[in-house]
Amino acid sequence: MLGPPGVGKGTQGRRLATDRGWPLISTGEVLREAVARGTPLGVQARQIMAAGQLVPDDVMIGLVRERTAATDAAAGFVLDGFPRTLPQAEALDAMLAERGRTVDVALALTAPEEELVRRLSARRECPVCQRAYNLVSAAPRVTDRCDDHPDVALIQRADDEEATIRKRLEVYRAQTLPLEDYYRSQGRLVEVPGTGGTDVVYDRLRQALGAVVGGR
Ligand code: AMP
Repeated sequence: MLGPPGVGKGTQGRRLATDRGWPLISTGEVLREAVARGTPLGVQARQIMAAGQLVPDDVMIGLVRERTAATDAAAGFVLDGFPRTLPQAEALDAMLAERGRTVDVALALTAPEEELVRRLSARRECPVCQRAYNLVSAAPRVTDRCDDHPDVALIQRADDEEATIRKRLEVYRAQTLPLEDYYRSQGRLVEVPGTGGTDVVYDRLRQALGAVVGGR
């Protein structure tokens, strides 16, 4: 899943992964868990993430190499938040080639920047199941409570404050947007507008995907 922060990569990726029976591998989520547990990776990543910057490529590549080799990912997986730089994209191709696999498709979700800032500011997540909510467009049934875990309060990510959001968008434009050209030049890029309700976007995504990978 490619696209700027807040465009819906996690929400749409989770749905796609569930439909396919594959794991969703979200590098941001892996890092947030490591931060919460205070592991060496978490200690290294905490301040970088809080500043809206990127964790070093070698760390991220190692993490994805290990995670994608797990048995639950043998049939396929959806990546959310990786690759984010050209070296990461090249490393992904290389590690998959070693295993006789390829990236089927790079799905790029798009949305205007002001919409992203609005969405990210209203974004909340369940600390138990990581389900994403939006106080404006996808509110929980009960204010500030996960529909599936009503005993715990929803939380706002530390990096979803406006100044950090702007920084993350800047980093996205400089480092991640060029990946669209990388996949486009290989004929693997599929662009899907990420605006509208989550069901509408998912229908679009499935149609676009169906046109490229068919029944696969
Ligand atoms: P996300 O949940 O995808 O928005 O990621 C949250 C933060 O985790 C990012 O702003 C980065 O600091 C870090 N991060 C996640 N994935 C990567 C990656 N592939 N490369 C570098 N940093 C990452």
